[in-house]
Amino acid sequence: MSERVLSDMAPVRVNYLRAALVSVISVIVTWVMTGVAFWIDPAPPAVAEEILLSTCVIATLVPTFVSFPVAIVLQRERLKLARALAQLEDAHAELARSSRTDALTLLRNREAFLSDVDALKAEGVHGSMLMIDVDHFKSINDTWGHATGDEALKLISNAIRDAVSEGDITGRLGGEEFGVFVASDGLDAGRQVADRICMNIARIAFYPRGGVARRITASVGLAAGDLADDTSLMMSQADRSLYEAKGSGRNQVKVYKAA
Ligand code: GH3
Ligand code: MG
Ligand code: MG
Repeated sequence: MSERVLSDMAPVRVNYLRAALVSVISVIVTWVMTGVAFWIDPAPPAVAEEILLSTCVIATLVPTFVSFPVAIVLQRERLKLARALAQLEDAHAELARSSRTDALTLLRNREAFLSDVDALKAEGVHGSMLMIDVDHFKSINDTWGHATGDEALKLISNAIRDAVSEGDITGRLGGEEFGVFVASDGLDAGRQVADRICMNIARIAFYPRGGVARRITASVGLAAGDLADDTSLMMSQADRSLYEAKGSGRNQVKVYKAA
């Protein structure tokens, strides 16, 4: 039985058959030891006859009444310990997961995003880096408040999720900025995902206050770096393209080109 299954079980289940087996074994051991004691130091036949019955009863009852409850208590403690360990393991896994996750959007946070991209590149996976920044996001907060801004960020993160493939890496870099590593070789794959992200975000049906639609758009910078390029270089290239996309009117994708 796995510890994870145990962690979901309450209360702990004791195996009484095993406790009974322990009792039988302890009775046998007591009998053998009593026999050995008699063999080493034989009592006179008259005395032996007199104490035989009481010795047999004691050698049977004492180990039974001691070992059976002790075996049950020990089993219970062991099971409780196993369950506590499983719960600790679950809590540890949850902590590790939440320390990598952005609480609002449930995407990777910046650190997890960068380390997962590094890990993928170390495996020899080629790809392109997208940096996404929501356009005029501050005006959403200023007009409808921070909580409405948070709702918009959730919708935006879903739009990004819907635009990527399973092997791609997505993350919230901070504020209203997101990163995507498109794990496919060549500029075209990255470009397609970037276009899809722009389109998905522009199609978000966002109604901040019953019925008043507010269009959301984002600008995207794309860098299709080489495998040899480190992640921070690709990030800064994507950032420069993003800056260009903002300067060219927003709601568009710009691809990094070395000067
Ligand atoms: P630009 O098109 O130039 O990117 O304009 P912008 O308004 O999107 O950019 P700016 O950097 O001026 O504003 C970003 C805003 O994002 C400001 C900040 O309050 C808001 N923001 C950052 N993090 C959060 C968040 O977690 N929730 C909400 N609601 N707003 C956030
Ligand atoms: Mg920004
Ligand atoms: Mg912005």
